[in-house]
Amino acid sequence: MAQYIPEPYRIKMVEPIRQTTYEERIEAIRAADYNMFSLASSDVYIDMLTDSGTNAMSDQQWAAMMQGDESYAGSRSYGQLMEVAHDIFNYEYIQPVHQGRAAEHMLFPLLLKKGMVSISNYHFDTTSGHVQLSGAKVINCVSAEAADTQSYAPFKGNMDTGKLKKLIREYGPENVGCIVMTITCNSAGGQPVSLANIKETAAIAREHDIPLVIDAARYAENAFFIKEREEGQQDRSIKEIVRDIFAEGDAFTMSAKKDGIVNIGGLVGVRENPELIKGIKSRVVPYEGFLTYGGLAGRDLGAMAVGLTEGMDEDFLRSYVGQTKYLGDRCRELGVPIQYPTGGHAIFVDARKVMPHIPYYRFPAHTLCVALYLEGGIRGCDIGSFILDPDPETGEQLEADLELSRFCIPRRTYTQAHLDYVAEKLADVMKRSEEFQGFEVLEQAKVLRHFTAKLKPYTA
Ligand SMILES: *Cc1c(COP(=O)(O)O)cnc(C)c1O
Repeated sequence: MAQYIPEPYRIKMVEPIRQTTYEERIEAIRAADYNMFSLASSDVYIDMLTDSGTNAMSDQQWAAMMQGDESYAGSRSYGQLMEVAHDIFNYEYIQPVHQGRAAEHMLFPLLLKKGMVSISNYHFDTTSGHVQLSGAKVINCVSAEAADTQSYAPFKGNMDTGKLKKLIREYGPENVGCIVMTITCNSAGGQPVSLANIKETAAIAREHDIPLVIDAARYAENAFFIKEREEGQQDRSIKEIVRDIFAEGDAFTMSAKKDGIVNIGGLVGVRENPELIKGIKSRVVPYEGFLTYGGLAGRDLGAMAVGLTEGMDEDFLRSYVGQTKYLGDRCRELGVPIQYPTGGHAIFVDARKVMPHIPYYRFPAHTLCVALYLEGGIRGCDIGSFILDPDPETGEQLEADLELSRFCIPRRTYTQAHLDYVAEKLADVMKRSEEFQGFEVLEQAKVLRHFTAKLKPYTA
């Protein structure tokens, strides 16, 4: 039986949510052109679209909001954030920005030029977008273990370092603008990366004089998995492990809307490269705002300062990662195929196994999300071929390695009963999967099309 760890907090403010009828949901998804991002949240019962910015803040964070110093320059809240962030990450320069993709926007054009490549265990979609906007090509290089969703491996997010070396030889180190280590590896199922793999990747990067960028959205969860699963790490604190991880990077980009437990915010950091620091400062002012607020209100900086610390609390991490494991275990008990073991922030259902009759170019993982919405008012999203933009040169639909439907767990937001409901509705969808035939795209943007595309159900 799946085990649920009681939460290390109690609820002091609630937000009502409303269940809809099946007929209302058919109407709502049609009006949204079958795009999960176009649904109104009021038409969603349990919203698992993302864990990004959907977290519940603590009383301490709300207190920091009330005390936010809204001075344009040199605000107290900025000072508070810098004190916490420098203590955790130990980088020479740390810049607040409005969210993770803004951090990418500040950094990547300084590292990448046309004709270059960026190699990552797996570029997150916005990261991939910013690499391409810089004129460079995206190459993913995650360990082969990630492709087998059913077998256990402790660190399925690891970089395939053998392949990485081969790629560097093939393209020439001078053409590899950066190596990006995404922790945890979102697109491969929220899977962690081992400290040993981070060190090995960093050594390869150093040897070829290529900067290593840590995409750190879920750095605290990744550190928790290292503590739980990696040999010799059990007696160390989360903070010690986090310090070790960041010591290997040359720069980091971070969406604080995940492990930072805030509703908006991000950071970009540089360990010790004066030229890069200068470059970032000169981009921040025109794009994000003055250096001491970076596109955020003073109150947001204060909430982030508190959230960064709370997000590394071990009891919190055990409970949060435990919620994901609980939902995953319930799914497995009910025969729903998920990426196993469960990662940090979400469960990923293997849509190829649920809907084997739907080819990748009709988006099985997206189809499963629509089916679950109709079944139970639950919103998830495609992490498969639908979120891959068509090939920029040929316009051809690319095939993802995995067709995953992702259901995220916002931090400190839903209870055990909500998670039971989700597992049961997924099991119900399994029984009706043959009713669905996939989708066709009617309209799409060139980059990050999944946010705005219009679709229609495919009929033979
Ligand atoms: C969320 C996320 C980003 C982008 O951050 P935003 O705050 O959504 O702009 C980048 N990388 C990873 C791994 C993420 O999960």
